[in-house]
Amino acid sequence: MSQNKTVSDAPNFLKTIIEKDLESGRVKPPIVTRFPPEPNGYLHLGHAKSICLNFGLAKDYNGRCHLRFDDTNPETEDTEYVKSIQADVKWLGFDWNEHLYYASDYFQQLYDWAVYLIKNNKAYVCSLNEEDTKKYRGDFTTPGKDSPFRNRSVEENLDLFERMKKGKFEEGAHVLRAKIDMKSPNMNLRDPLLYRIRKTQHHRTGAQWFIFPMYDYAHPLSDAIEKVTHSICTLEFQDHRPFYDWCIENLPVPAHPKQYEFARMNMTYLVMSKRKLLQLVKENYVSGWDDPRMPTISAIRRRGYTPESIHMFTKRIGVAKAENWIEYDILESCVRDHLDEVALRAMAVLDPIKVTLTNWTEGEQWIETSVHPKKPELGKRQMHFCESLFIERSDFMENPTADFFRLSPGGKVRLRNAYVIHCQEVIKDSSGKVIELKCEYEKATFGGKPTADGKKVKGIIHWVSAQKNIEAEVRLYDRLFTVPHPEDTPEGVDFKTNLNPKSLQVISTAKLEISLEKATLENRYQFERVGYFCLDSQDSKPGKLVFNQTVQLASGH
Ligand code: ATP
Ligand code: MG
Repeated sequence: MSQNKTVSDAPNFLKTIIEKDLESGRVKPPIVTRFPPEPNGYLHLGHAKSICLNFGLAKDYNGRCHLRFDDTNPETEDTEYVKSIQADVKWLGFDWNEHLYYASDYFQQLYDWAVYLIKNNKAYVCSLNEEDTKKYRGDFTTPGKDSPFRNRSVEENLDLFERMKKGKFEEGAHVLRAKIDMKSPNMNLRDPLLYRIRKTQHHRTGAQWFIFPMYDYAHPLSDAIEKVTHSICTLEFQDHRPFYDWCIENLPVPAHPKQYEFARMNMTYLVMSKRKLLQLVKENYVSGWDDPRMPTISAIRRRGYTPESIHMFTKRIGVAKAENWIEYDILESCVRDHLDEVALRAMAVLDPIKVTLTNWTEGEQWIETSVHPKKPELGKRQMHFCESLFIERSDFMENPTADFFRLSPGGKVRLRNAYVIHCQEVIKDSSGKVIELKCEYEKATFGGKPTADGKKVKGIIHWVSAQKNIEAEVRLYDRLFTVPHPEDTPEGVDFKTNLNPKSLQVISTAKLEISLEKATLENRYQFERVGYFCLDSQDSKPGKLVFNQTVQLASGH
């Protein structure tokens, strides 16, 4: 993927469909889409793609996008998730305005329609147990057999269904099924389940309902109630579409939405199933759903990714009709492209060696420099300079290789925004570790001016005053998994064996330039030559700053 900011958006076949529908008059404006998460976990990058797609299409065609919680599964759902999902959608910059809905708001209507189906002999109460239900359903090569309960009378069905509703039966005793075709080559049409009994408290309706609609029944009808025009979902629902249409065709619904499928986004070096992410959290492989190494939206926000970079990313990858894998690098390059524009520049030394300027007699000096090289409007910052400084350990080499142009004994290097220094003496501790460099500075080289001997100084390094700086914790991140497809494991081998043991490195010795005292959570920073960073929203406090590495300066994996 090119880093060129003018790369055009990748194709999106859904736009073609919408344009045709509007042109032919099949759909009257406004177009209506929806993002329908189940509140059973935190949203991840795959959801971000779906959010940008649904809200983005609505925006492009002056329509609207609803946020609808598909809360038909009382066991796994929770208001904690409802809140985090709303925060994530807002963070991505989208607004559902007054169009916030819950499938549970429609429980009464969905129930009434189920009764309607029963009365029209299109649904029946089935009392087979789970095992027999499976047997009767057949499989891809064997046609199904009719349930012995399929021909119950309308009256008996109405009576049983009403008693199911009132909680008169145990879970699993009965279900309500659509009466379609047990011999259909499409398994989803072999009398699919419409309702099952659940005696669990629902996060919104409490103990009001003892029966809950199946997702495949609730979904098309919720779309119809909300007059959704384009119901966009992932490819695994393609085979469910005939049942989606069946619901719409067999009930007196107020609108006729249509379902369209696109390929679920997979990304290398990540797992994106909520179930697996939950395992990482529960088994303490990460510190929580928002651990900055996680692919959740709350984690990437904490890590310092920007909504703009996610938008750029979803546009660059486009919308595919077939399964595919997106390289994680593409996302990182989008993050870099945006951060390059907005990040405030500062200097930080993560692994310091002390430098003493033996010929410095000026006390202290404040060096004014820009906060952003291309954006003077962002203002200036003041860097403290004095006799003792810190430079990065990796910017010094005692026995330099031929391609090393930074500091070495007897050699010269330029301190960014300051002077050329000349290394005179290397001081080591008893273990032989370099602890200090005695150097001389050349006064006339300030502001990029040449050295007295006229020789070009190739290396430019960053530095921080050793007298005035901030000590901070810096957290460096690598990929959470060591292989591009962590879920591709041999039989019986857990995906967690592919976790990267070095995905988090905590540096407690970092020295930051003093201007970072005023760092805020809202701003992003580029530590010059080191990478992009942001304050950690959970652990950073005044007096003990903690910075997260958002992304390296250049692709280095
Ligand atoms: P998971 O498989 O991670 O548990 P899900 O599909 O069960 O996710 P939902 O809450 O049902 O999670 O998803 C809400 C919406 O987000 C759905 O419309 C779904 O199609 C979409 N979505 C989920 N994962 C992806 C993905 N990887 N790429 C694109 N869209 C996705
Ligand atoms: Mg789902």
